Amino acid sequence: DIRPIARALLSVSDKTGLVPFAQALAEKGIALVSTGGTRKALAQAGLEVSDVSDLTGFPEMMDGRVKTLHPGVHGGILAIRDDAGHRASMDAHNILPIDLVVVNLYPFEATVAAGAGYDDCVENIDIGGPAMIRAAAKNHADVAVVVDPSSYATVLADLNDKGGTTLATRRKLAQLAYARTATYDGAIASWFAEVEAKEDAGEGAGAAAESRVFGGRLAEALRYGENPHQSAAFYVGGPARPGVATARQLQGKALSYNNLNDTDAAFEAVAEFDPARAPAVVIVKHANPCGVAEGETLVEAYRKALACDPTSAFGGIVALNRTLDAEAARAIVDIFTEVIVAPDATEEAAAIIATKKNLRLLVTGALPDPRGGGRLVKSLAGGYLVQSRDNAVVDDMTLKVVTQRAPTEAELADLAFAFRVVKHVKSNAIVYAKGLATVGIGAGQMSRVDSARIAAHKARDAAAAAGMAEPLTRGSVVASDAFFPFADGLVTAIEAGATAVIQPGGSIRDTDVIAAADAAGIAMVFTGVRHFRH
Ligand code: 5GP
Repeated sequence: DIRPIARALLSVSDKTGLVPFAQALAEKGIALVSTGGTRKALAQAGLEVSDVSDLTGFPEMMDGRVKTLHPGVHGGILAIRDDAGHRASMDAHNILPIDLVVVNLYPFEATVAAGAGYDDCVENIDIGGPAMIRAAAKNHADVAVVVDPSSYATVLADLNDKGGTTLATRRKLAQLAYARTATYDGAIASWFAEVEAKEDAGEGAGAAAESRVFGGRLAEALRYGENPHQSAAFYVGGPARPGVATARQLQGKALSYNNLNDTDAAFEAVAEFDPARAPAVVIVKHANPCGVAEGETLVEAYRKALACDPTSAFGGIVALNRTLDAEAARAIVDIFTEVIVAPDATEEAAAIIATKKNLRLLVTGALPDPRGGGRLVKSLAGGYLVQSRDNAVVDDMTLKVVTQRAPTEAELADLAFAFRVVKHVKSNAIVYAKGLATVGIGAGQMSRVDSARIAAHKARDAAAAAGMAEPLTRGSVVASDAFFPFADGLVTAIEAGATAVIQPGGSIRDTDVIAAADAAGIAMVFTGVRHFRH
């Protein structure tokens, strides 16, 4: 399987290492053929090299667009050497065999990276080079192909040791060759996608182009991103899931980037509450719930959710797990709200919402399945992270009582409720709940004890605003999205008045934490499941 080399065709844009390599080939008596620029470089180094137009009978033309695209070249590369018919064709048309193809491509990627204009980029799409590379790699049974100067040494080693290239070398070189043409065409396709996205999206160009990485279809170029100086676009794709991507907007202004993000957070959270069990409402601000409740009716659930933190609920997003009815609609329009999202809305409710012409009303037709799969994507510098959805649901968890006292039935109902909510609060997350309503939410702090303090503090404020003597955390339960690393976070919750706790457990100091709970006579259950959300 050794193939000697009688003739080599060299046509390279990157001329690194070219001259010494060609010199070594020439010393072995190998005939050299080249395109214009490559030939010039070799001739200047004193090497004898013929012009590719000797093989084609044509000059290079059209500014180099057509140099090697000719049977005189491609026949010499593709002919099967021991096929009589192929040999007859070569003889009939004076085609000379080419045993080594050395080609590297017009620097398309570097041209784009340098910020070159459209026409310049197009002109740097190499046509003849990839054709020769692919032809030589296909005929690796007889021909060796080199697409990068780093492979020159491999070829010379074979020539020195074996007097020709081995099949193993030619196969390896063929693999590298197709890998190169694939990335090359990939870069060209991405560039076109970017150009296209820029035209589609206008202002949203930058973000739109980047989003192509994740696939999906451009649904909307947004006015701006999280801040006015950021461009943005909304892409939809992946497995269908009722929510912002599929919702019908019945009225109101266009949704902004932040509206879409917050509406998604609110609707995903409300989907944790089975509409067959009870009506539920989630109010979200800056992607965190600021009030969540179940009630006998939607309006009751809304009032309970609002009572948790009425200050934050101003300008919030309201998500409901059942068809929006007139009573709930009337209560919601009472305060400034950005978006309402629900599976549906009655005509009467829609008419009430219509009195606020900017207020957006979205109907989704259904609730998403909290146990459903799917992927979450988060970008970071130079790449992105992908993970599956957090589809763990407290009803499926085995709750382990770890304290002397077990929770009462009412506490248990509130504990499950609080754990459903804490899953949708940014970490570190602490949620106090009472009577199937949140009464204090601490979100996004770097320490768990701070989240516990903030939640208790907010509960005191809410109680004071409502003219109550007692903070609402008195006699509440508390949920923590991850274990308490020390007893201090739990002690804060106990001081605030919590009587029962739900948390994953699993800290090396669990015994300290359990001892603190027992000392206060409170009940604690472990879920064994963590709900970090960042
Ligand atoms: P040179 O510097 O030798 O004039 O040109 C070398 C470059 O031309 C190589 O990057 C090679 O891939 C490319 N090339 C060779 N044949 C053709 C052709 O027929 N059309 C185009 N567009 N490029 C070619």
